Amino acid sequence: MIVPNVKILDEKNPILRIKSKEVSFPLSDSDKQTIKDIANYLKLSQIKEYYEKYNLRPGMGLAFIQLGIKKRIFVIVYEKDDKEFETYVVINPKLLSNSEEMVYIAEGEGCLSVNREVCGIVPRYARINIEYYDEEGNKHIKRMREELSVAFQHEMDHLDGILFVDKIDKKDPYKDMDKMREI
Ligand code: ZN
Repeated sequence: MIVPNVKILDEKNPILRIKSKEVSFPLSDSDKQTIKDIANYLKLSQIKEYYEKYNLRPGMGLAFIQLGIKKRIFVIVYEKDDKEFETYVVINPKLLSNSEEMVYIAEGEGCLSVNREVCGIVPRYARINIEYYDEEGNKHIKRMREELSVAFQHEMDHLDGILFVDKIDKKDPYKDMDKMREI
């Protein structure tokens, strides 16, 4: 298998701060190809055999803006079971509602655009209801929980030019930790 040529921008790049634009359908062939490339890349990055061989950083989500494309599209590849992956192609997502309960990822969030150790907790909703379109233009309304809820919120932030590091309190990186559940 060949690793797709996916060039990921680093957090220092100001493009990552741009608010991405709504996408209209049908998608262009080039956007469809980029979706495939991202999905393959994320999958390979989570399989030991490949991430070791190709020196990839494991990641479960990537937004178009991280490749410099200002469109409201992201892909999440979630390892449900051992080497069993679920792929979400998410276009023009909207948050419909969220739980009051907040969670944070115990080992800290990661981002393929942030190439450094970051300490602190990122508050996220434990559950969200969202609406989005897939690559064929079909509308989906879904409820996401736990890790997937966090991943969706992380990627939705990218579409608005927000990085996870922005959500960590600068003065007190572990602020309100006791009010949230660790996952
Ligand atoms: Zn990210």
